[in-house]
Amino acid sequence: MHVLLPARHLLPSLLCYKPHYRPISSLSIAPALVRSEGHSGGRWVPATSTFPVLDPSSGRELLSVSDFGVQETREAVRSAHTAFQSWRVTLAKERSVLLRKWSELMMQNKEDLAKLITAENGKPLKESLGEVVYAASFLEWFSEEARRVYGDFIPSPAKNKRILAVKQPVGVATIITPWNFPSAMITRKVGAALAAGCTVVVKPAEDTPLSALALAELADQAGIPGGVYNVTPCSRQKTPTVGEVLCTDPLVAKISFTGSTATGKVLLKHAADTVKRVSMELGGHAPLIVFDSANLDQAVAGAVASKFRNSGQTCVCSNRLLVQKGIHDAFVQKLAAAMNKELFVGSGFDERTTQGPLINERAVEKVEKQIQDAVARGARVVCGGKRHSLGGTFFQPTLLSDVTTDMMCTQEETFGPVAPVIKFDSEEEAIAIANSVNVGLAGYFFSQDPAQIWRVAEQLEVGMVGVNEGIVSSAEAPFGGVKQSGIGREGSKYGIDEYLEIKYICYGGL
Ligand code: NAP
Repeated sequence: MHVLLPARHLLPSLLCYKPHYRPISSLSIAPALVRSEGHSGGRWVPATSTFPVLDPSSGRELLSVSDFGVQETREAVRSAHTAFQSWRVTLAKERSVLLRKWSELMMQNKEDLAKLITAENGKPLKESLGEVVYAASFLEWFSEEARRVYGDFIPSPAKNKRILAVKQPVGVATIITPWNFPSAMITRKVGAALAAGCTVVVKPAEDTPLSALALAELADQAGIPGGVYNVTPCSRQKTPTVGEVLCTDPLVAKISFTGSTATGKVLLKHAADTVKRVSMELGGHAPLIVFDSANLDQAVAGAVASKFRNSGQTCVCSNRLLVQKGIHDAFVQKLAAAMNKELFVGSGFDERTTQGPLINERAVEKVEKQIQDAVARGARVVCGGKRHSLGGTFFQPTLLSDVTTDMMCTQEETFGPVAPVIKFDSEEEAIAIANSVNVGLAGYFFSQDPAQIWRVAEQLEVGMVGVNEGIVSSAEAPFGGVKQSGIGREGSKYGIDEYLEIKYICYGGL
């Protein structure tokens, strides 16, 4: 049933203000952290041209950044390869100490790093601070894991032979990251790579290179040797050619990518020619299932947390809300009320803001297209549904009911603040809908029935399950997906394996 809220319930989300442009010079960020050149071989390197980094709140330019091309990128790969020869033989404890120092410097500079994230990504400052702490936690975690890379001594079938399996770093790793977590998507990979003894070349997203460059400054300050952490910023125009170099250069041994499934497939094709190791953290389309057995308040809080973080722009955001018929109407009503009470749209630098702008116009157009398609096919807009009156790329947090599985929003990732609610009858139906897509990153469900909890957790075709919980990520837990959501795991005790080869040594003649 469509739940129409009285107009006054919609008022709070309209009580917003005009965002104002904050030039980067006005943000009181330590000048050493505001970098406009690439970082290669331990040096700041200009390019022959630059590209603008924009403030998504106003569309105005924050800074011009060096636009690396093929030549600068090859040079960065060579630097990483040279540095690998000495980094690979440093003691695990030395690498551990340096990673810890890097993590500590992030924490000491967390306010400045957070301001950079909010400036280039638009997310609320509180969320940016959370991201910096989360990002630093990967360096800390892998500083500990660096010292726990064990091999095996295997019982031999022959009396005169001994069998050992040792682990060695794979080599230079290309790290390609998206804009939605400008800092954490880098450290989640780089922490593991450096701990294993690999060196890296990082290509950040065009929209958010500033955080990647600030991390390079802190890596230098931590004493990480030149060439171990390189950054090749580039414009979207140059990305395909730079990306090709990074994924085909014979000196590169490993590609670790986080981004869309479509781009991941391009990179996998590049990787095939030289048979590089790959880790792929790709798109999601998370179901969030609310069973009749759920605690309603817990389910509503979980839905708000998992759907609207970063304005819906995370790969693990719930993207399809499946709600059982007995609890459906109450859930929709409570969720709408919570959205109107708790979500505040505005500039990331305003303390009240919970919803910053979307990253760019393309993102807004995708959200609009999905809503138009859903409404044309019979969905109802319970709240939101339009561009926000603040203009630019601000969008109203949106709740759709009467959603069906033929609608675009249930078939592809939204990456925006739209919560589409699908009503279902039975547990089997919910699982069938949840598993009907070709990706499987995160999935959430709310139930107080222990038997149902085991059944559903085991049947969901995803890499990560939140049971009565909307936020699941941490450095300690394995992050990754199944199906077309990717290959490999990041974080946790498993993450470092992505950067290690197993070598078998047969010691004979004994
Ligand atoms: P995207 O378009 O795939 O871009 C991601 C990165 O790949 C950017 O640095 C981009 O550079 C680069 N890129 C694009 N085309 C390339 C090419 N031909 N060669 C080399 N690099 C290329 O993804 P996005 O829109 O920025 O990010 C959103 C997507 O990331 C969503 O699908 C989301 O689910 C996914 N994601 C997944 C995870 C996870 O852990 N599974 C985490 C976060 C996000 P430019 O910026 O220059 O285009």
